[in-house]
Amino acid sequence: MSKVRGAVFGLAFGDALGYPTEFLPYDAIVRQHGPRGPRELPSRALVTDDTQMTLAVADGLVGALEEPPLSAERLEPLIRKEFLDWWRSPDNNRAPGNTCMAACASMAAGKPWWEATIAGSKGCGANMRVAPMGIVPGLSDDERAGAAQLQAALTHGHPTGLAASELSAFAVRWLLDGMAVAELPEALRQRCLSQRQVYRGEWLGDHLWRQPMAESPEAFIARGWDECRAALDGLEDAVRYVGPDADPCAAGGAGWVAEEALATALFCVLVFPDDPVGAIARGAASSGDSDSIASLAGGFAGAVHGAEAWPAEWFERIEYSDHLDRLATAWS
Ligand SMILES: [Mg+2]
Repeated sequence: MSKVRGAVFGLAFGDALGYPTEFLPYDAIVRQHGPRGPRELPSRALVTDDTQMTLAVADGLVGALEEPPLSAERLEPLIRKEFLDWWRSPDNNRAPGNTCMAACASMAAGKPWWEATIAGSKGCGANMRVAPMGIVPGLSDDERAGAAQLQAALTHGHPTGLAASELSAFAVRWLLDGMAVAELPEALRQRCLSQRQVYRGEWLGDHLWRQPMAESPEAFIARGWDECRAALDGLEDAVRYVGPDADPCAAGGAGWVAEEALATALFCVLVFPDDPVGAIARGAASSGDSDSIASLAGGFAGAVHGAEAWPAEWFERIEYSDHLDRLATAWS
């Protein structure tokens, strides 16, 4: 299906478009590219850790699904192996996040993931790589939710990283299933409410929630859902008062943390409902975590518009083109 291919490649296109602007000041991006950001991929279209780790999650998932049903016991060792392969790779030189690097170092030293994870981190590394959990066909909602949270938990132990990962995966899934973008913010806020007290112990185990300030598994996870709901509040209003010509971080936050990356990426798609390249250009032209915002936006926009909406020559030019193509073909 073209929408699957659109999402798989879209996340990489957004990542590559945002790579050169991630650490540039907003004014400098606008001076270089105009108020709506860059619309053309660099001739060497390199991606960053966002796409590299997305491919790691995808490969772990594909391996786990060779012997269904999907479970934490099947999935965790495979994703851990993929993360450690990425961590050791010479290609892991694309400004990787500190949380991912530290957690991988601890897992490589032999710690179980629930000790290796950075308990206080809700960086957007948690959800910038979660799209495969939304795209892969055939999972139940509970499997999708558990797998999305578990892949986050390996490195980011904060409940908001877990909740934002589930929401990011569900957003892709719902868009693939035909939900209108304009309905997403409210649908995601409803998910925050319905899941508020749901700690997925069969996926996360009994260790992760035991942190200072958390009196119960339910209290631990509720904090994450509440923070995500707050980040999604007012997105529809922001479409009007921030609009398509301003820094999108004014709408959803800078995106260095997971719930803001989700909100700001969603905003980019909301203000460019008919222009997927415009949506990722908006993400790349931001004062915050440009590559992650643009990558998330690219996954969403691709799920809406399908592969035909992206410039045809980008599919060959993008780094990891063959790998992305294999996944898109397998899941279509
Ligand atoms: Mg990155």
